[in-house]
Amino acid sequence: MNLILFGPPAAGKGTQAKRLVATRGMVHLSTGDMLRAEIASGSALGKRVAGIIERGELVSDAIVIELIEARLPEAEAAGGAIFDGFPRTLAQAAALDAMLDHRRRPLDLVIRLKVDDQALLERVAGRFAESGRPDDNPESFKVRLAEYNTQTAPLLPYYRGHKKLTEVDGMGSIEEVASSIDAAIETRRA
Ligand code: AMP
Repeated sequence: MNLILFGPPAAGKGTQAKRLVATRGMVHLSTGDMLRAEIASGSALGKRVAGIIERGELVSDAIVIELIEARLPEAEAAGGAIFDGFPRTLAQAAALDAMLDHRRRPLDLVIRLKVDDQALLERVAGRFAESGRPDDNPESFKVRLAEYNTQTAPLLPYYRGHKKLTEVDGMGSIEEVASSIDAAIETRRA
């Protein structure tokens, strides 16, 4: 099964994706994690994207599409992927559909985690204090939320139109959100 965990930054996508990896053996494909690994390794790509990410802006579609494409064979071998933080633009969504259709492993489900903006701001303040992730600073986070609202939220009608979208309340505890996600997956499987 291929599914997208969809939602604004700090909605809990990474936490829930890690749990699905542990319980279902799927592969977690987070473009944010891949880009941070490039930065940490000091690669040419990492150097190109570091400033963009720190400011909270989006890196180019071509870069993230290539990163995802390189990992699809691994996901296919594991029986499916959880896409986290990808796609973030309509061009990325179209590219993902084309790549998955080409492999005859189409997208099954898009699970949207709904969390209100005030809760996101509180979560990210806590996360910034804990992890010191540079783009969790209040200025960059504001940019990331704005990018989500202008570039990424328009994917919701796209996936709704393709009958792929399920919405889940992301405001509960980690366990509550996890069981709503499990229910959404089982409903789709049935
Ligand atoms: P994330 O960990 O998903 O919040 O991503 C951290 C940052 O990496 C984002 O704020 C963007 O700068 C960049 N990034 C991650 N995924 C994408 C994507 N699909 N498209 C463009 N930029 C991305």
